[in-house]
Amino acid sequence: MVLEQPGSELRLAELPDPEPEPGQIALEVHACGVCRTDLHIVDGELTEPKLPLVPGHQIVGTVVSPGERFAEGDRVGIPWLGWTDGKCRYCTSGRENLCDRARFTGYDIDGGYAERVVADERYCFPIPEGFPDLQAAPLLCAGLIGYRALRMTGDAERLGIYGFGAAAHIITQVARHEGRRVFAFTRGDDAESQAFARELGAEWAGDSLGPPPEELDAAILFAPVGALVPAALRATAKGGVVVCAGIHMSDIPSFPYEILWGERQLRSVANLTREDGELFMELAPRVPVRTQVDVHPLERANEALERLRRGDVRGATVIQLTA
Ligand SMILES: [Zn+2]
Ligand SMILES: [Zn+2]
Repeated sequence: MVLEQPGSELRLAELPDPEPEPGQIALEVHACGVCRTDLHIVDGELTEPKLPLVPGHQIVGTVVSPGERFAEGDRVGIPWLGWTDGKCRYCTSGRENLCDRARFTGYDIDGGYAERVVADERYCFPIPEGFPDLQAAPLLCAGLIGYRALRMTGDAERLGIYGFGAAAHIITQVARHEGRRVFAFTRGDDAESQAFARELGAEWAGDSLGPPPEELDAAILFAPVGALVPAALRATAKGGVVVCAGIHMSDIPSFPYEILWGERQLRSVANLTREDGELFMELAPRVPVRTQVDVHPLERANEALERLRRGDVRGATVIQLTA
């Protein structure tokens, strides 16, 4: 499926199989997760995609053209971080997620809404055993970047999660595994998401604009809604951190300094490093993370995006390539 112009629907197209360059492997794609970032790209909120573009950056497939790390037939995942220069001040200080020249899968590089894809094998991950393709796909962004956001909360015990979609449903499981207490914040009338959060181990779920039953030690915002930033700061105790985990957010309204005062921190999380991926792929089977997926065939990718846009998804949205 191809995006020709932001603001338009994806178009089903026959493309030649991409040829791997030196250092790249080729995969037959089995599943590709649909991320809110894909929506931001299709809707034109992220303004610099290659065009035409094959979106998709949570790719699971088997190697058909091997490299040095991966052999033919290996089951491999391709994440959002597709390439870095390895030599800028960010790369050389362990912060390749911030590389000025980073290239991203399904944005700068054609992604996984396709039968075949090529990728620089240095940025790919082996898929842990015990995760079927469809269940593994959401680990590659919702899981990885969610996990990076969770690490930014340090050892916070009372964790607020704002927006209960794909990343939240994974990170709630990880947070519970780590012995944290989870408070889930959704739209006030979204009883279904609140029930889902409780099923996954949240001890409380309620209106994102109201106060939680007790103060939070940290909050993660997965919803791209700037108005939630002051709400989360108000809900967070002194010394706590509010982590904005999305790549795009509506404007944050002005707020009184007193809700930041008390050594509260407000920060974002950008992209992932390969280390994040390795740590999370090692942790996911130990939790064990169980993803719930809403599956669509490739040719229905526009509907999959629309369901995500409307918030109609319980868990993660995944495109299935092969039966
Ligand atoms: Zn760099
Ligand atoms: Zn993503």
